[in-house]
Amino acid sequence: MEYGTLEGIDSVSVVHPPIDGPARLDGSRVAVILLGAPGCGKGTLAFALQRSYGFEPFSTGDALRAEISKGSQLGVQIKALYDNGRLVSDEVVVAMVGEFLQNTDSGRVIFDGFPRTLSQAEKLSGLLADWCARVVCMDVDDDVVASRLLTRYSCKTCSKVYNEKTALPENGGVCDVCGGVDFVRRVDDTDAAILTRLQVYHEKIAPVVDYYSTKGEIYHVDASQSTENVFAVVSDVVFK
Ligand SMILES: [Zn+2]
Repeated sequence: MEYGTLEGIDSVSVVHPPIDGPARLDGSRVAVILLGAPGCGKGTLAFALQRSYGFEPFSTGDALRAEISKGSQLGVQIKALYDNGRLVSDEVVVAMVGEFLQNTDSGRVIFDGFPRTLSQAEKLSGLLADWCARVVCMDVDDDVVASRLLTRYSCKTCSKVYNEKTALPENGGVCDVCGGVDFVRRVDDTDAAILTRLQVYHEKIAPVVDYYSTKGEIYHVDASQSTENVFAVVSDVVFK
């Protein structure tokens, strides 16, 4: 049987539970936590897991905006912090994650770019006590990431990400997803900015990686492989 093929990943036959099946064959709910430097391919992988298996992504930014527009008690607090130019605390973010987990009925969630700190990781473990958690660390050398980021650009309309060297739109200058013809490059994607971002990332994420390593819950994946291979390896990790 073949399930969940991703567009452009026809060569990989994926033998895992279908999108509308139980989270795992044993019925447990699955939370995938993706860790990896900017440019390691986390976003692409998260999108593939979402499309192929119905994983629901948690986005801190989206959750914050949704809470503010709902005008909930939490939303009012968040807006006050924003208006004062303050960062939202771990407690607030974790509260939103808790709400997200309660409101999801697919039993499959994915965290991309969260947790960012040891404190968030510890709190997330508490929230996921009844879940089967799979922490995937996408390892890739900084110079590989830097060259990927330098050639990366995205559709101005729908934000679909392309790459000058590895992932051009199928139809020249037209976006595959929305048909848009305007593209933008991130302004901070320059050599110096990239190296600084990577350094900051490594310093901040090291305690999180150590935390999961100590618990024996982390799977390291070589993210310099092709998207197809990374997807196949991670699919195995997620459903094993
Ligand atoms: Zn587009």
